[in-house]
Amino acid sequence: MILDQFKLDGKVAVVTGGARGLGRAMALGLAEAGADVALVDILDMSESQAQIKKLGRRCIAITADLSDKGCVDTIVHTAVEKLGGLDILFNNAGIIRRAPLTEFTEKDWDDVMNINIRTLFFLSQAAARVMIKQGRGGKIVNTASLLSFQGGILVPSYTASKSAVMGLTRLLANELAPHQINVNAIAPGYMATDNTKPLRDDPVRNKAILDRIPAGRWGEPEDLKGAAVFLASSASDYVNGYTMAVDGGWLAR
Ligand code: NAD
Repeated sequence: MILDQFKLDGKVAVVTGGARGLGRAMALGLAEAGADVALVDILDMSESQAQIKKLGRRCIAITADLSDKGCVDTIVHTAVEKLGGLDILFNNAGIIRRAPLTEFTEKDWDDVMNINIRTLFFLSQAAARVMIKQGRGGKIVNTASLLSFQGGILVPSYTASKSAVMGLTRLLANELAPHQINVNAIAPGYMATDNTKPLRDDPVRNKAILDRIPAGRWGEPEDLKGAAVFLASSASDYVNGYTMAVDGGWLAR
């Protein structure tokens, strides 16, 4: 039956950036659908962990700094060792830096690229190796952005990294499809998280953004749960290399 295909019972998911924001909401969505979860973050994850455990799922917290790719093997092996395998990887952690083009620093370029695309690739590679060895397929879901599709303003390294996320999602999907591993991405629209607080606090930018969203509101982290569970589940077994916008209609406008 179709609803059974959305179930994640017995699956193990790794979710990066799971301490708060979109990562926490998506991790909770996966847990509500039945998955056990390994959270990865540099911040304290106890609140996310408590909410997942309350659902009756197992949840471990792996503290790691994703700006250095040296952590990827530890993340994958800890999840496998403590939760018994790896079926789903959500590459969600990401950062943004804002500055005018002429003042943008090398550090703001490197910091963003390191987390948003470099470690994302190497963590996907490490997870793919495990999934291939397990021989039972898998799902990798990347958090892209509207700036995978558009140029944006004041955020050059963010646009470059998120455009790369969409391209890399396609490449990973192509190479991993023969192993029954699906790779897709979610492009959230303007979501109310700490990441977008400066925009929401600026009355002019806030109004301009709201006026352009057909749904007429900022997205809530919970708005991503449906897409997250779909792309993590066998309901999406024939969806490969696609970046799905969950944006209240922003890109349709
Ligand atoms: P957030 O800042 O609330 O959460 C990001 C999480 O990633 C945090 O828990 C943070 O600690 C973690 N993280 C950051 N750097 C890390 C590091 N070096 N090592 C380990 N963990 C680290 O942001 P969010 O809005 O929830 O964003 C989540 C993802 O969604 C990001 O990739 C972001 O680019 C993307 N996104 C957000 C929006 C939005 O409107 N909020 C829109 C499009 C895309």
